[in-house]
Amino acid sequence: MPSFQNDCVIVGASFAGLACATALARAGMRVTVLEKKADPGEKLHTTGIIVKDAVDQIALLDGLPSDLVHRVHGVRLYAPSLRHVDLSAPGYYFLATDTPRVMRWLAQRAEEAGARIDYRKSFTAAARVPGGFDLGEAGTTRFLVGADGPGSRVAQVLGLGRSSKFLFGIEHEYDGADIADPDRMHCFIDRRIAPGYLAWVVSGVGIVQVGLARRVRDGQPAAPAAMAAFLDKVAPLFDFRDRRPASVRAGMIPCGGVVRPVAAQRLLLVGDAAGMVSPLTAGGIHTALKHGLAAGHAIVDFLSGRGEDPAGGFVRSYPTFRAKRLVRFLFDHFQSDMLFDLLLGTRPMRAAAGIVYFHRKGVFDPPVRASDARSRVAQDAPPR
Ligand SMILES: Cc1cc2nc3c(=O)[nH]c(=O)nc-3n(C[C@H](O)[C@H](O)[C@H](O)COP(=O)(O)OP(=O)(O)OC[C@H]3O[C@@H](n4cnc5c(N)ncnc54)[C@H](O)[C@@H]3O)c2cc1C
Repeated sequence: MPSFQNDCVIVGASFAGLACATALARAGMRVTVLEKKADPGEKLHTTGIIVKDAVDQIALLDGLPSDLVHRVHGVRLYAPSLRHVDLSAPGYYFLATDTPRVMRWLAQRAEEAGARIDYRKSFTAAARVPGGFDLGEAGTTRFLVGADGPGSRVAQVLGLGRSSKFLFGIEHEYDGADIADPDRMHCFIDRRIAPGYLAWVVSGVGIVQVGLARRVRDGQPAAPAAMAAFLDKVAPLFDFRDRRPASVRAGMIPCGGVVRPVAAQRLLLVGDAAGMVSPLTAGGIHTALKHGLAAGHAIVDFLSGRGEDPAGGFVRSYPTFRAKRLVRFLFDHFQSDMLFDLLLGTRPMRAAAGIVYFHRKGVFDPPVRASDARSRVAQDAPPR
């Protein structure tokens, strides 16, 4: 058996890769992360909103500095006619984030644990050798993880599954802007502008984020044209038409569920590379962190001789999104602006929105007990 330079190489220093690297490094594994960018906070393709469930369930986020987040307490959902309804669930919130700094903070956690992050290092090729992989210049490794996003090069090179169904998201960042009701996420349904998903205006940390995501299909106007139409549409409420965005975030969002195969011997995909994004909410940060960490632990067990290769049983713990894929199918095929205008504010619509936004903690939930709320909120970043 050759001696390997790494126990695990992870491709991609974003949510999934950094969570996985932290778990491995904390267990004393020799782990290297290859990242093609020079800085984990540059060229982001995410709004960066973290749901409360992630904060509650993922200890890695404990200690996330409070100046990196802005707590958003509810959603204002606008029908195509711009009529709106306010939704919230007791105790529920979202964290809008200073995402570049959150990424750097996560990278620092991984490095403090002992992981090495090689920036400006693109994964291009790998050859199987007995007991692992040879990555050429990037060295040899006993295990390889593809956490390299929706267009995963690891999946392509090593013959794993790749997503084929996507939304495309585009977002403008406006520096130093203010909006009315900054503690709400303003979400807009409009089939013309954001078919298959939504458009949004969110007050982030020192910026306002204005974006939309839409189904990727031929024959539709390009996302920048849709963005211009959205800016015109919301101008009576939030007028950004005369401002230049400080930055634009954009990217593909896999929405067809987990790819197949998602793993092979000593090889695993995780996060967007695995197609691990909710087909309904298009949120992938929570799943990337959660399954990134879990993959790290499973690889530690395997490499320490305490468990089987995670390419076997472990990947069955990946989400199936069965119900969410069904709702996505219905939304893709039967989305109707007229229906949304009619139904907005009705009990069934509020209940459905509660499921989507507040993860089954519907708007009709009984109030959270004060003790529950206190115990969790005290540990997390205080509201700004
Ligand atoms: C516009 C937009 C808005 C979104 N908003 C939200 C949101 O608010 N909340 C939410 O939960 N989800 C959101 N999502 C989805 C979410 O961003 C993703 O699910 C999440 O980023 C997935 O993390 P990841 O670590 O799997 O992969 P990614 O974040 O895609 O990171 C992949 C990393 O791999 C690196 N990489 C790629 N190829 C190589 C290579 N060959 N060699 C070396 N490195 C490589 C990339 O540079 C990158 O750093 C949004 C997506 C988009 C496009």
